[in-house]
Amino acid sequence: MQITPFVHRIGNFVNQYLLIDNKELTLIDTGMHVNKNSILNYVKKLGFQPTDIKRILITHSDSDHYGAAKDIKAASHCEIWSSRIEAEAIEKGVFSRKITTKGVAKLLMAIIEPVIMVSPAVPVSRNIVDGEILPILGGLQVIATPGHTPGHVSFYMPTERILFAGDAIKSVGGKPVATTDSTTGDPIQAAASADKLLAFNPLVIGCGHAFFDFRKKIND
Ligand SMILES: [Zn+2]
Repeated sequence: MQITPFVHRIGNFVNQYLLIDNKELTLIDTGMHVNKNSILNYVKKLGFQPTDIKRILITHSDSDHYGAAKDIKAASHCEIWSSRIEAEAIEKGVFSRKITTKGVAKLLMAIIEPVIMVSPAVPVSRNIVDGEILPILGGLQVIATPGHTPGHVSFYMPTERILFAGDAIKSVGGKPVATTDSTTGDPIQAAASADKLLAFNPLVIGCGHAFFDFRKKIND
């Protein structure tokens, strides 16, 4: 789905975002390992080749955000950028914090984890830091948003006021709020991170599992 001519959303509920800067493509998150084909098909549908993907920015090391990174890197020879804390987990193919799910969620995790939560380890090319301006589409700002995971980062594009929030923000009743559920390592930190992001007053918020377009009043 096109957000602007240069910013696209791929996927539905497990979202990835594609940034087009001239002929260079940047992917924000990759979904699960099963999302590889849908991402590469989307790239081809826009008239690009997999090798046009130059880098993948990973918000955090959950399987549904970097699961396809190894396969997409193999197809594109792209770089992978993440925060140092998340890189340590991504390079081992593990989570960056202990998940203490309870009750039904715990049972569900136990069942689905071996089937879909596969995260092949992949080397990270570059560690990105809070406040850094990445040379993508006129400057993409890295914002440290710890809480859901300790090294979670978000990205803000001031030219279009688009925020890419990973799992720092989710939708509750159609409104953007902090992710503070049982998959979140530090809910208090997560709440502060979401406040920091919402203070940018973005027009579009592309999350891992929610999407807000205040230009068109679309929330899903
Ligand atoms: Zn997550």
